[in-house]
Amino acid sequence: MEAILSTPNIVEAEQILAALGQADIEARIIEDNGTFISASGNIVNYRIMVNDGDADAAKRIASDYRARNKATETMPWCPECGSEDVSESVVRHKHGSIWFLVLAPIMLVVGFFSPPFFFWLFTAGAVLFIIQYFIGYKTHRYHCNKCHHIFKRY
Ligand SMILES: [Zn+2]
Repeated sequence: MEAILSTPNIVEAEQILAALGQADIEARIIEDNGTFISASGNIVNYRIMVNDGDADAAKRIASDYRARNKATETMPWCPECGSEDVSESVVRHKHGSIWFLVLAPIMLVVGFFSPPFFFWLFTAGAVLFIIQYFIGYKTHRYHCNKCHHIFKRY
């Protein structure tokens, strides 16, 4: 028997096992808790074992599975037509929300007339509101290449 991969993700291990089964490759999962990481914590690795002769084919199936899984993880489906053919664009917003910036001085005024604890709370909040405006933020947009629907990830 040969280990073709080791993963802490049992769901992934079981799905790869199922994919191997479909390709008529005999495989099994062995819990690998002999590593030093698991001695100190709760990370258990699952090793997938196959017969020596099947190792190359099994590795290919496992890496195919991982590549496919990674693709669906990073790229969502189009909510309109269900197409997977989407492209991603990152929209960089130079400024954060203007409303929070407007709120900041109001919070400072309210804080000024409040007991000390709330004074510091409101002051800290106002400072954060001001900072977020100047830092800005990023949003990811997706464009469906099939129906040209533009959507955000949910
Ligand atoms: Zn679409």
